[in-house]
Amino acid sequence: MDSVQKAINCFYKNKAIHLEDLKDLVRIPSVSFPGFNPQWVRDAALATAQLLEKRGFTNVAILELEGAHPAVFGEVQVDSKKPTLLLYAHHDVQPSGEEEKWMSSPFAPQERQGRLYARGSADDKAGIIMHTAAVSSWLESGQKPPVNIKLFVEGEEEIGSIHLASYLQKYRSLFDADALILTDTSNYDTGIPSVTTSLRGLVSLEVEIKALDHSLHSGMWGGPIPDPALALSKVLGSLVDEEGRIALDGITKDVLALTAEEKKDIESLPFDRKLFAKQASLFEGAQILGSEKNSYEWIWRKPSLTINAIQVSNRKDARNIINDKAWAKLAIRIVPGMDAHKTLRILKDEIKKRVPWGLSVQFFHESASPAWITDTKHPVFAVAKKSFIKGFGREAFFIGCGGSIPFVEPFATALGGIPALLIGVEDPYTNAHAENESLCLSDWEKSIVSAIDLYQELSHVL
Ligand SMILES: [Zn+2]
Repeated sequence: MDSVQKAINCFYKNKAIHLEDLKDLVRIPSVSFPGFNPQWVRDAALATAQLLEKRGFTNVAILELEGAHPAVFGEVQVDSKKPTLLLYAHHDVQPSGEEEKWMSSPFAPQERQGRLYARGSADDKAGIIMHTAAVSSWLESGQKPPVNIKLFVEGEEEIGSIHLASYLQKYRSLFDADALILTDTSNYDTGIPSVTTSLRGLVSLEVEIKALDHSLHSGMWGGPIPDPALALSKVLGSLVDEEGRIALDGITKDVLALTAEEKKDIESLPFDRKLFAKQASLFEGAQILGSEKNSYEWIWRKPSLTINAIQVSNRKDARNIINDKAWAKLAIRIVPGMDAHKTLRILKDEIKKRVPWGLSVQFFHESASPAWITDTKHPVFAVAKKSFIKGFGREAFFIGCGGSIPFVEPFATALGGIPALLIGVEDPYTNAHAENESLCLSDWEKSIVSAIDLYQELSHVL
C-alpha cells in the first residue's frame, strides 16, 4: 500500500474523532465583532491550540498583538530540505443572526441529512479541522508528512482581517514557506471541487447632491427650481447602459480579458439559468442581465455597479415637496486589470461632470480595495487540480469569486509571490454568515482525503 493510501485509511478510521473535534470548536461562540464578548474568541484560540497539540503539531503558540483577537500557530517540521506549506484558516465567526430563524441552536451542532448545522460549521472551523485531520492522518499512520507544515489560524477574519498584516510582520520568521493553502472559500457546487484563482475588489463612496438650503413646496416652486432627487436619478441612471453594464469607458477598458483557457474553464462548468435565478430568489419575469452563457463569467471577471442605499426624504413622511438634497451610496465591484484608486477617481470625475443644472455635489466615505488574481501557470495549480480526484473522483475547476477576501492581499504582500491555493469546504447551500449555516459532511470528508494527497503531490513540485 502506498503512503498516501495509508494516511487516507488512517483518516477513515479516525473520521468520527475529527468530526467531534469540529463539533467541540463550533460550540464556542467566537464572534469577533465589536459588542460581543472577546473572551469567547480567546477561548476558541485556546481550544484550537490544544487541538493542534493533541493532533501532533509542535511549537504551538497563541500569537498576540495589542488590541487584536489572538491567533494560533503550530507546525510539523519533518526535514529542512523538504518544502514547507503554510496553511490558513480562521477560528472566529459571524454573529448568529436571528435566533428564531435557526432550526437548531446556532452553537449546538446538529447533524441533519448529511449536513452539520451550526455557526462556523463551515466558515471556517471546518477549514481548521481539514488541516488538523489531513496532517494528523499522516502522523497517526506512522509516517512523516511529505512536506513541512506550518498552520496559522486567525481570529479576526470576519471583521476584515484588520491586524493580519501586523501579525505577519511581527511574527514574520514563523511564516517562511514555499506555498500557501487557504481553506476559506466555496466550491462551485456540492461535489464539485474548486480552486479560487481571482477575487473582485471594491470601490465605494457616498454621493450627495444639493440644490436648496431647505425643502420647498412643490406646487409653489415646482418647474423652474431644480429637483436634486431627479438630478441624482439622472446621474445614477447614466452610469450603466441598457444591459446594466457600467457605461464609463475609462473604467471598463482596463478589464483583463479572459485567456482562451480561462474561457474554456468557465464554459466547461455546468450552468442552468433557471436554477441560478432560483438561487438568487429572482421574481418571475425579472431578467438575468448579460448575454454570458454562464453568468459567473460576469460575476467573477467583469465589473458591476450597485446602488446600496438611496435617500431623499423618507417613505413615512413623503410630502409634496422639492427636497433640499439627495443622497446615495454606490459601489463598484472591480476585477483584475482595473486599478481601485483610478476607478474611484474616474467615477467621481464622471459624477461631477454629469450632475445637471449647476447643482453642487459632495462625496463622503470613499474606499478602494484591489481585485486579486493569481497566475495559474505555477505547477501547484495543475497538481491541485489532480489531487481532488483522490477525494471527489473528479478534477477541480478553477473558479473566480465575485466578492473580496481581505486576508489574501496581506499574505500575497508579506510572503512575496509564493503561490496561493484558495480552496474550501463551503457549497452554495452553506448559508455562511446567514442563519442555518451548514457543512456538507461528505464534501468535507472528500476535501480532507484530497488534502492528504495534495501534500504528497506538492512535495514533488515545490
Ligand atoms: Zn471565512
